[in-house]
Amino acid sequence: MIPALFLDFDGTLTEEDTLVQLLDQFGRRLPDGRDWRAIEFDDSLPENVKLQAEMDLLDLPLAEALAWLDGATRLRTGCAEFLREAAGQGLEPVVLSGGLLPLIRHVLGPLATLVQVRANDLRVEPGRWRVLPAHTPRIRNQCNHCKTWHLRQRQQQGRPVIYVGDGATDFCPAREAELVFARSSLAGQLRSEGRSFLSFTTFDQVAEELRNRHWRLSPARP
Ligand SMILES: [Mg+2]
Repeated sequence: MIPALFLDFDGTLTEEDTLVQLLDQFGRRLPDGRDWRAIEFDDSLPENVKLQAEMDLLDLPLAEALAWLDGATRLRTGCAEFLREAAGQGLEPVVLSGGLLPLIRHVLGPLATLVQVRANDLRVEPGRWRVLPAHTPRIRNQCNHCKTWHLRQRQQQGRPVIYVGDGATDFCPAREAELVFARSSLAGQLRSEGRSFLSFTTFDQVAEELRNRHWRLSPARP
């Protein structure tokens, strides 16, 4: 069966994380002098609270941020060719991000026409980056954008799911996908849970693996 393909954006399709880059470059310090990592690594805060608290540290115009990302964010090797081939094989690639839609669309550029992009939106007001959480229903009410909800929609149609990711917002969906490509902290988490996954560094590797499988997987579990 032709699988559905879901891909994280920051640190997966890209080498760098756009939000980390912007916060490192432009983020104000907290009143106690610490940077945005004090929020990110506060385990008492859910993801949806963390993201807005971090964006509260930015106040530059969006156009300035996008222009700066042009010279700072690189798509991962093989990404463009992989997305074209996957789309051509009928996998209907969907970018699922816990990040921000305007940044993703800008970095993807013309590639955005090959994929659906599902992420949080953003409204930049004078002095404030306001996160507009994705409208997706939330299964566990932890994240602004519930990636797992999207997976389950496809699986309920009988489509097996391929998930490609790297970070904390990928832990939950990766546990439910039929085939996972993982790097960075997602790989570490899945390894610690004894779950199977395939490591990747470039999308050439992901493409080769899927070509070997003829771009097909067994139907989703009922
Ligand atoms: Mg990521």
